Amino acid sequence: MNRFTNWIKIVSLAALVFALAGCSFRTIDPSEMTEAAPSETVHEPAASQQETDDGKTERDPSTVPPTEEAGSDTDTETETETDETTQEPFQTEPPPVTDPCPTETIETDDVSTETSGLQAKERLQAALDAAHTYLPAIDSAAWHHLEDAVAAAEDALAHGRSGSYEEVMAALESAMAEMDARFVVKNGVTYVDGILIINKTYGAPKSFAPGNDKTARAALDRLIEAATADGVTMEINNGYRSYSSQEKLYDYYVKRDGKAAADTYSARPGYSEHQSGLVYDMEAWDETSPQALWLDEHCWEYGFIIRYPKGKDDETGYSYEAWHLRYVGVDVSLRLRELGMTLEKYLGITSRYEEG
Ligand SMILES: [Zn+2]
Repeated sequence: MNRFTNWIKIVSLAALVFALAGCSFRTIDPSEMTEAAPSETVHEPAASQQETDDGKTERDPSTVPPTEEAGSDTDTETETETDETTQEPFQTEPPPVTDPCPTETIETDDVSTETSGLQAKERLQAALDAAHTYLPAIDSAAWHHLEDAVAAAEDALAHGRSGSYEEVMAALESAMAEMDARFVVKNGVTYVDGILIINKTYGAPKSFAPGNDKTARAALDRLIEAATADGVTMEINNGYRSYSSQEKLYDYYVKRDGKAAADTYSARPGYSEHQSGLVYDMEAWDETSPQALWLDEHCWEYGFIIRYPKGKDDETGYSYEAWHLRYVGVDVSLRLRELGMTLEKYLGITSRYEEG
């Protein structure tokens, strides 16, 4: 019994060891096999992929346009079915693309790239022309982006770098969109960077009748108080003016002085800043008067600006008015005094009637 059982144990042990050894060999082999054998089974799809890749790479070099044909075909087919169809398109596609297509598609490609290149150039030129309408503008981040984009577009066009047209135009359009975002129209009135603008370029509808702005009026009261404390008597001549009252005023000036002359000092109805309710004309008609001198020195501290400074007719659209104050808030008024800029220059906008 013992010997027999021992023998059995020995045999079973041996078998176990052998089996373990075999298993260990197999476990080792498979690891090697996975690289070899599985690679063979995988290799078929891999080979088909390589072949399809080769097919693609062959098509790609044959120039870009063919990829439209090949790309669209492979895309639709690979989208519909993945593994199985890869063989089909691979079998069907390569022959036509490699043999006959190259010469034909290359010709059509060259033509299409030339036409698309011309279109890209025209579109870029048009975008560049549009971008130039934003210039000159203020020293803002948005404007600098536009300036850079314009320079890049001009450079690309000047050197005929058609390959960069699309990229350059995208930057140009992005910069213009950035500029456009600064302009917001509310109730028919334009705000640039949040600042209400009524001038010869940006009119207001008859329906816009806000009356005198309370914040502006409170600031003016503080200004008058300060001027009075300085010994300067400051009187208000007028403030808010409605569309219709401006209409009467302008018509009167046109009859008296003619349209061309009237346009230099009086706004057409819908284009008077007085309609904003943010404007006051002070009793400071003479620029050497104590009132005018005090305003020129101090109005900025209360959020007002001398809206139409001397010698800035081309920017503001109006001749010098020592008395016309516009409320813009202290941040902007102090900034404008620091920069020595008109509101038009600061915002990068014009003040011109569309028709003379
Ligand atoms: Zn005025």
